Amino acid sequence: MAKQEDQFKKVLSHAKEYGYVFQSSEIYDGLSAVYDYAQNGVELKKNIRDYWWKAMVQMHENIVGIDAAILMHPTTWKASGHVDAFNDPLIDNKDSKKRYRADVLVEDFREKINQKIEKDITKAKKRFGESFNEEEFRATNQNVIRRQKQMDEITVELTRVQEESDLEGFRQLIIDLGINCPVSGSNNWTEVKQFNLMFGTKIGASAENSTQVYLRPETAQGIFVNFLNVQKTGRMKIPFGIAQTGKAFRNEIVARQFIFRMREFEQMEMQFFVKPGTQKEWYKEWKETRLKWHLSLGMGAENYRFHDHDKLAHYADAAADIEFNFPFGFKELEGIHSRTDFDLKAHEEYSGKKLQYFDHEENKSYVPYVVETSIGLDRMFLAVFSNSLQEEALENGTTRTVLKLPAVLAPFKAAIFPLVKKDGLPEVARKIMDDLKWDFNVFYDEKDAVGKRYRRQDAAGTPFCITVDHDTLKDNSVTIRHRDTMEQKRVAIADLKQIIKDAVDVKTWLQKM
Ligand code: ATP
Repeated sequence: MAKQEDQFKKVLSHAKEYGYVFQSSEIYDGLSAVYDYAQNGVELKKNIRDYWWKAMVQMHENIVGIDAAILMHPTTWKASGHVDAFNDPLIDNKDSKKRYRADVLVEDFREKINQKIEKDITKAKKRFGESFNEEEFRATNQNVIRRQKQMDEITVELTRVQEESDLEGFRQLIIDLGINCPVSGSNNWTEVKQFNLMFGTKIGASAENSTQVYLRPETAQGIFVNFLNVQKTGRMKIPFGIAQTGKAFRNEIVARQFIFRMREFEQMEMQFFVKPGTQKEWYKEWKETRLKWHLSLGMGAENYRFHDHDKLAHYADAAADIEFNFPFGFKELEGIHSRTDFDLKAHEEYSGKKLQYFDHEENKSYVPYVVETSIGLDRMFLAVFSNSLQEEALENGTTRTVLKLPAVLAPFKAAIFPLVKKDGLPEVARKIMDDLKWDFNVFYDEKDAVGKRYRRQDAAGTPFCITVDHDTLKDNSVTIRHRDTMEQKRVAIADLKQIIKDAVDVKTWLQKM
């Protein structure tokens, strides 16, 4: 755990030091759970968004994009259920005065038990080597059986108190499990209360004439209310999808995990409209497709897992999260939800307008079912950033800090250095830069010794460094150094574009899907 916390601290300070993420309004001591993306962060974020958009929209003939407004008619949120049911259960510790999400306290407790099981399995794997059978071990090891039973019991009770909105039962569960406040160490808990997460604001000039509106808590509803507009004007045939990226806002209770849980964040969502009765197949298909997208980035298959929901939201008939191994353990990165016809039907009812699709093959109209994929762009940023940040021991006994971002996502694709600041080398380096910048984001640096410049680019995540030296003047060749292997090669200036393109092209990466 200490090691994990250490790594997380490193992620925070590196994100600031290398111009990725700043606290919002830092000179006023910041605003809790709100962050700004800095000069490098904005590029990484844009590249992640593009990588998603290309995979989802450009590569699918039957998926189109939209960009709906953040402010929507307030009835939208009545229909979607957010006004009445978009609540989190919160609980305060009377001694530390700290506030927690009751469900997160219980889930974290359960995860700790799970980690103990995983630890036992890892140990046994080492002990038994090749002959180890995990399934058998899980079924026969007494410690694992006992812990798994405890986890299952927690799941059952957690689901019950949530489904029945049994707030007293929720508090009792926390007390019965012996969960204490991490700050005060006590179990002096208040009762559990429901708290609506939507930010409200007003439209209109005067108090009497103003209308209560909300900052959207998810981008999905902008897609639902436009479903028929897009279907008709785009002449879309079911099955088809509508994708959108954009800001969403939630007044989160627990906001202590950097950009993992923010009050203002960005989502990348796709709603896939299907024939009723086919949603199970599409749900399965999108679960697989989305996992493949993640795996294409090469961040280690062992860092992902599915978590199928025990407690389904009011609109869903199946739901799963893709969880990622963040520096603080496995947590939700993306949700895949089979949302039934709940949203479209609710909007029909509240607006009085039909939101139906005429199926020519079936010769009838129906309200389509929806399978949704929903990923937080900021969470994806954190997953990529934290996974890429590594300390490496070098052969000469020193260490280097390297940000091994997938090259397709790196803010700068190459840095160009003249070996020295004289003898015409800067002019040649500039010329290379002027040529490459049409195709790639490239960085120029002539300050300090080359070794130091390499280290700076390693830490900033730039996949290639290109050095112009005196030989370049004679034979038009340069040294290209690879960030991950530190291998250096002599190549012709004329070949640079292709070498970089092969490594950073979206096609190279997405084809791994
Ligand atoms: P959680 O259980 O972590 O609160 P959620 O289940 O409420 O998340 P969804 O409503 O399914 O999340 O939203 C879809 C995605 O949006 C999530 O998988 C996550 O990546 C992202 N997301 C949700 N809330 C936040 C937030 N406060 N900050 C950053 N990203 C978020």
